[in-house]
Amino acid sequence: MMVIQYKCPDCGADMFFDSESGKLSCDSCGRKDNVEDFPKDFIYNVFTEGETVEYHCKNCGAVILTDTDTTATTCSFCGSGVVLGDRLSGNMAPAKVIPFTISKEEAMKEFKAWCKNGLLTPKGFMTADRVKSIAGMYVPFWLYDLQSKGHADAVCTKVSSYTRGDYIYTETSYYDVHRSVDLQYIKVPVDASEKMNDELMDKLEPYDYSQLKDFNTPYLAGYLAEKYNYDDKQLFSRVKSRTDKYVESYIASTIKGYHTTSYKNKQIDTKQIDAHYTLIPVWMVYYDYNKSEHIFAMNGQTGKVVGKPPISYGKVAAWFTGIASVSFIVLKSVAWIIGGGF
Ligand SMILES: [Zn+2]
Ligand SMILES: [Zn+2]
Repeated sequence: MMVIQYKCPDCGADMFFDSESGKLSCDSCGRKDNVEDFPKDFIYNVFTEGETVEYHCKNCGAVILTDTDTTATTCSFCGSGVVLGDRLSGNMAPAKVIPFTISKEEAMKEFKAWCKNGLLTPKGFMTADRVKSIAGMYVPFWLYDLQSKGHADAVCTKVSSYTRGDYIYTETSYYDVHRSVDLQYIKVPVDASEKMNDELMDKLEPYDYSQLKDFNTPYLAGYLAEKYNYDDKQLFSRVKSRTDKYVESYIASTIKGYHTTSYKNKQIDTKQIDAHYTLIPVWMVYYDYNKSEHIFAMNGQTGKVVGKPPISYGKVAAWFTGIASVSFIVLKSVAWIIGGGF
């Protein structure tokens, strides 16, 4: 396994991806480097045997544990960003990334505002230690390019009524309506992580694809990242059911001026043209409320908040629990390093 860390060429401190400048940045001396041309001599590659989930931080020596889906994490002890290189290569290599533009401070501020505006206003909500964890996470997505052909046959009616003498007459005219459409959808996003709630991830849309970059590992420095659990073939039915709805509503929008429409036949044929493995930035705040645990999620590019208060997402909660237990182990191991070394 290959572990990558980025060291500042000027002062030796750890570099991380800075959401504000869009550059690899050093907190200690303020140096900033472009992601594309960071000097290779200061990229530390550590090779470990086999597919291990435990290794030592190059910076402080503490043990970092990951689960097998992790592609980037931070050292819980010194905060150093760590990228797991070989989980990002071969067919696991992302094609694209949308870098974070919202900082942790901004995300936290938004979370507090959201608590005040929403249902989480009981006194002491923010003063109590509700926030268990906040994490900037690159979530694996597939962006699909699709071609959809739709055909529909319908019987539509127009109804008119008129009065003659003492009687009101109603006249119904029937029309055979046919529609064929040929539509292209570009970059329809579907999240590919098992841990993420599909509905929650869908609500974070839309993304601004003008900021889509070719993938490069320094974007992950200082964040968490996961690899995909499902490939583009496995998720095709999910994207298809989404686009089929778009096609249907598009067809419906072209049938105008009738009082009723009843479909006799509807066919939609959707083909995949391409799928791009893409990392999408999400801020996640894990907090407790009413004695249970909840997730607040925010689009790390646009700042859009998934504003549905307390819903529990078991799998993500389990993942955060994993992170919490990692910190615990790290602290223990550091105690051991200090105890044993000095
Ligand atoms: Zn520096
Ligand atoms: Zn460390």
